[in-house]
Amino acid sequence: MDPLTAYLIVALMMLLNGGVLGLMHGDLSPDVQPSAISWRIGTLLQACGCILLGVQTYLPPLFVLPLANGMVMLGVAGCWRAVRQFYGRGESAAVLLPTVLATAGIAWFAGPQPDLAARVAIATLAWVVMLLAAAWTVLRAIRGERARSARVLAGIFVLLAAFMLLRGVYFVVSAPIAGSIVDTRSWINALTPILASVLPVIGTTGFLLLCSDRMRRRWEQAASTDDLTGLANRRTLAAAGALRLRQARDDGSALAVAIVDIDHFKSVNDRFGHETGDLALRHVAARLRSACGRRHLLARQGGEEFVALLDVDGSEAAVDAAERLRGAVRAEPFRHGDTVLTLSVSIGVAALVPQDRHLDDLLRRADLALYAAKHGGRDRVVAAPPPADPA
Ligand code: GH3
Ligand code: MG
Ligand code: MG
Repeated sequence: MDPLTAYLIVALMMLLNGGVLGLMHGDLSPDVQPSAISWRIGTLLQACGCILLGVQTYLPPLFVLPLANGMVMLGVAGCWRAVRQFYGRGESAAVLLPTVLATAGIAWFAGPQPDLAARVAIATLAWVVMLLAAAWTVLRAIRGERARSARVLAGIFVLLAAFMLLRGVYFVVSAPIAGSIVDTRSWINALTPILASVLPVIGTTGFLLLCSDRMRRRWEQAASTDDLTGLANRRTLAAAGALRLRQARDDGSALAVAIVDIDHFKSVNDRFGHETGDLALRHVAARLRSACGRRHLLARQGGEEFVALLDVDGSEAAVDAAERLRGAVRAEPFRHGDTVLTLSVSIGVAALVPQDRHLDDLLRRADLALYAAKHGGRDRVVAAPPPADPA
């Protein structure tokens, strides 16, 4: 296939990919849309640049070479900007710098001092810098996370940078007998349109996966956590509790539950308003969370009530763990402006016994104990007695 046809086919593929991204735009969540627009503009610029590269022999070199290369490089810069936006990095003129410098260099080696190897070397350098910078942006943002789609996209950037580098080195070192990058006498020229299509075609798939991965995580997060406190919500508690109970019944591992209810919370709302009440609720949640650490799962059951799944064996250990929760709330008053409020909680605990078949059995007993704690004067922990033997 002659290079002109190859460039036109590749440009068509890029346009189609940009079109797919455009069609999906409305389905993307608003937070990823600006980044998707940058990626799409990048794809479009690369497509237009490829068309110009294909027809370069029909146009004056000083006009077409800087313009075509500049467009393709600006397109790569668009992809780099897209990943920066995706990860919330601010705008930076540095994103344009490689394109501006390289376009000026290419203009020089296209007009005053024509030199194909120098033009390829300059374009290669700009591509490699931008691709590696884009990969770095992704990898730095996901440090420590699993984020497979992000790693795939970073991998595409790095691989493409490596291929472009090899191509550039080949051009400069072996100085192929070619007057331009569309000259059919050099085999490396057949490779160029393929390489140029990697980012807008395969990269776009990677970028879309990245977007959908973020959206999926957001939905999962929203479905499993409580908005106000950031703790696990009732749904997560039910799922985690059922799992822990099954495990405990299977292998005898420890399990107890604590229901924690803030004392006289209604009066906080009544005295300071609902918004301050919300802040107080978050404060208590944070105290309880730090006392639970990673060992016990803490959830907001609803209202001013929390449930901790305690990884402890027996009633005594459960009471000790609950006392630590109660102490954590008491130890640090809630402060807001001039308001300083020492809050307290009442806690009912129930340790797993063989009669507990479902999480609700345990919760019911803990709830009775909580009731007793409230009636006993509040700010205390009460353990549920084991259920009466039906015999
Ligand atoms: P007790 O010691 O018996 O538990 O007294 P209480 O006032 O804490 O209990 P009650 O059940 O009478 O009132 C609970 C209050 O918690 C009433 C409700 O307005 C408040 N509350 C529940 N959820 C929220 C919330 O999300 N934000 C705020 N600010 N208040 C909440
Ligand atoms: Mg209460
Ligand atoms: Mg309550």
